[in-house]
Amino acid sequence: MTSGRLFLIRDGLHALCLATFCSLYLGTFSFPAIAEELELVIVHTNDFHGHIKEEKNYAGAARISAFVLQQRERHPRVIFLDAGDAISGTPVSTMFKGLPIFEVMNLMNYDVGLLGNHEFDHGYKEIMKFRETANHPLLASNALDPRGNLIADMANYVLEVKGITVGFIGVITEKTPRMITPLGNAGLTFLDPVMVVKEEVRKMRADVDLLVLLSHLGHKEDQDLADAVPGIDLIIGGHSHTYVNPPVKIGSTYVAQAHRYGTQVGLLQLTVDTDKNSVVGFSGRLIPAAKLPAPDPAVLNRVNFFEEQVEHLVDMEITRSSRKISPNEVQGIFEKILSDTAKADFGYYNIGGIRDTIPAGPVTARHIWNIEPFSNTLVTIKIKGSDYLKLLNRERESHPSSTSISADKTYIVATNSFIGAHAVKAFGNAVQMNDLGVLVRDVVIENIKRNGLE
Ligand SMILES: [Zn+2]
Repeated sequence: MTSGRLFLIRDGLHALCLATFCSLYLGTFSFPAIAEELELVIVHTNDFHGHIKEEKNYAGAARISAFVLQQRERHPRVIFLDAGDAISGTPVSTMFKGLPIFEVMNLMNYDVGLLGNHEFDHGYKEIMKFRETANHPLLASNALDPRGNLIADMANYVLEVKGITVGFIGVITEKTPRMITPLGNAGLTFLDPVMVVKEEVRKMRADVDLLVLLSHLGHKEDQDLADAVPGIDLIIGGHSHTYVNPPVKIGSTYVAQAHRYGTQVGLLQLTVDTDKNSVVGFSGRLIPAAKLPAPDPAVLNRVNFFEEQVEHLVDMEITRSSRKISPNEVQGIFEKILSDTAKADFGYYNIGGIRDTIPAGPVTARHIWNIEPFSNTLVTIKIKGSDYLKLLNRERESHPSSTSISADKTYIVATNSFIGAHAVKAFGNAVQMNDLGVLVRDVVIENIKRNGLE
């Protein structure tokens, strides 16, 4: 959303309140304070990662949409929010650079969204296309382009929901530069979230009944922020993929998050006192995919339209697996395949880049796509042992290659272009990167087709 639709006036009048007010006025000629307690329902998602199609325990966009429609039929005030990382995780997202996800989200009628770190996967300039495509505003108050301008639609947003003025602030993790490809993302600034949110709360608090922070910081960070910045009623979180059921309360701030990939949908019911600008009643829980209603046909149609364009490429069986293979085992499989293919000393694949498991039974190319949706290429890096150990960082203790490294030797490591680019950024000329120009995903699919998994 790029046009100047700052305020979406759902319904300025609140008929019931007016009626009450009138009778009091006519009866007594005095104006007693009328407690205005209004109910608001919030449905929320985060870290959807392109899973518009129903598969495994992921609900798919159409069933989530049906759930939201059901809520809108039952309750007068329903808002539908997303806390970032809507894209990157499936072939349909990657092949079309994230755009189908926002098109489908339009049919689901989201009210407000957020930029997560994965919205930068195709370079920050592609975010302009997301903003043009999405009917809902995409927030992020602390992400700035090389000229110092906001990358998001806006830093904050106000929505009138039949008598309740709801303010929204958006914030993204300042660790984003370490998590995104440097390609197309040079010169960006991510400001300290606590500082920026404090300032936005100061500007907005007096003018809204309810203040909601959409956060792509992670659950622990959300709780710390709630502690550090008073005045936020509710944090709708994401990024850490945390199953938060029910939401937790820190001071007077509720903190929610709905796992990932649409396995859960968050449902919150609030009673808002619009005289005191405060939440006087709250309940919240996660609804698992299996409990959601049958698909919304309009959304399902659109999902099928996009999925049909990728099916012939990704739904072919490449092997069978006798058991489910965990992300840590998948990491080992990828490292061996990359190392063998590039004839390197060893392979290294960051565990954060392994986005899914391999199921028992038929294994399709789609499964490998879901594990590696980023379209990284296979690279080798020539790197000193001491630098390599620094690169391993948090995985240093657990990674099998780390025990056989001597600090002053030089090694050839096969890895993905994401890690390669970060190594070059960190160690400069001390590292020589060679991009083999083939996609990691294609290399892995071809290898598994030939050799199986056992
Ligand atoms: Zn994230």
